[in-house]
Amino acid sequence: MSERIVILGGGESGTGAAILAKAKGYDVFVSDSGTLSDAYRNDLVTQGIGFEEGGHTEEKVLEANLIIKSPGIPKKADIVKKAKARKITVIDEIEFACRYIKGKIIAITGTNGKTTTTLLTYHLLKTAGFNVALAGNVGESLARKVAAAEYDWYVLEISSFQLDGTKKFHPHIGVLLNITPDHLDRYDHKMANYVNSKFKLIKNMTSKDYFVYFIDDKISGEEARQRSTEAYRVEISLDPEAITTARFDGKKMVFQFGKKSFKIAQSETTLKGRHNLVNTMAAVSAAYLAKVPDAAIREGLKTFKNAPHRLESVGTINGVEFVNDSKATNVDSVIYALGSYTQPLIWIAGGQDKGNDYNLIKDEVKQKVKTLICLGKDNEKLKRFFTPLVPKVLETQDVKSLVRMALEEAKPGDVVLLSPACASFDLFKNYIDRGNQFREAVQQLKEEKEKVNA
Ligand code: ADP
Repeated sequence: MSERIVILGGGESGTGAAILAKAKGYDVFVSDSGTLSDAYRNDLVTQGIGFEEGGHTEEKVLEANLIIKSPGIPKKADIVKKAKARKITVIDEIEFACRYIKGKIIAITGTNGKTTTTLLTYHLLKTAGFNVALAGNVGESLARKVAAAEYDWYVLEISSFQLDGTKKFHPHIGVLLNITPDHLDRYDHKMANYVNSKFKLIKNMTSKDYFVYFIDDKISGEEARQRSTEAYRVEISLDPEAITTARFDGKKMVFQFGKKSFKIAQSETTLKGRHNLVNTMAAVSAAYLAKVPDAAIREGLKTFKNAPHRLESVGTINGVEFVNDSKATNVDSVIYALGSYTQPLIWIAGGQDKGNDYNLIKDEVKQKVKTLICLGKDNEKLKRFFTPLVPKVLETQDVKSLVRMALEEAKPGDVVLLSPACASFDLFKNYIDRGNQFREAVQQLKEEKEKVNA
């Protein structure tokens, strides 16, 4: 009889792992404590993979030879503890998928900027014509990709939850962008545990591998320097005086790989803001180390389109640009958004406040924002804080009237920026829904104005 693999969790990584395990000839069973989405249930049915929903049946789970756990399930979950007590090996989807990979891995992690950097790195390799897959936390799971085809390169966005479950995971190029306190509930509220998890990225690296990191970041930069690794270190800094492989000299991003140098200004790329200088330097370094030619790097930086809802330009009406940064659900992200523009701003903020400290953006708001439009059910905190700082504060709960109001407030050359600093659940399903509704409303208004102007 073939070995039995039980997969806990039937989301993208669990379903991907099931498909790969089935393709490799295992007897596979998926167990999910919640409800499967139609798409994943369909995948399992089509592939003839057994599954259960709405709870784990212990007898079925614990007769496994190997358990593959989805990253969303903590190690402390009851069923995982029981499996371990029975000495059943429990691994994660990434670890399982890696067993079948022949190509090289570029793994990107950090608290912020993972998706942007991963997508950009992938785009640079793709532009150069590499046989490359995009996987991990963005798009399809690694296991699903591995089951579908063979690639020379895998560009992976890796969260700390995914790193937690790795043992032999061995990226050829590992990128660590930054570490700020996040998800600490999964790490016994100890920052050191979260940091250790992120550093599993370099655990199996050898002298043939590369470790790319941002040294200015307080936590990860310092830790990266202190930890020993055989990997070749590639440091990134925003300090013009830094003696690093990649730095920003105040005007251009400057790369010095041995004797070869490469310079490019952010205006030659499609990304804005200081945070994206870091992401771009990380992606370019990774691409360079993968031997992407300079011309393809330049071309890729010019043609890159970031994922939606991250400083996404969604249209220009009468010379006013509308920007959707709905992903900015905390004040930190808004700092980056405000810093990305020099033009006067009509700033749209609000939603569910998670204990925001608006002092962090006070000066920049005072300097740049002409009008604040609050988009939330309860806007009292925003209004109280910003009324003394901003010439005009308005509010609405309706996205269509929001974009009209914003256009009325703006002059040609101004920017309307939806960068809410808050969660979206008071008025929307999630940040994606908020961003989509905003984009649609802008497009409708644009069409209406074009008809009038025609
Ligand atoms: P992640 O996938 O890690 O959530 P994203 O690339 O989706 O990261 O970016 C999410 C938000 O994080 C952005 O809208 C921006 O506000 C912020 N951000 C992006 N890159 C960085 C960075 N390098 N450092 C700090 N914050 C960043």
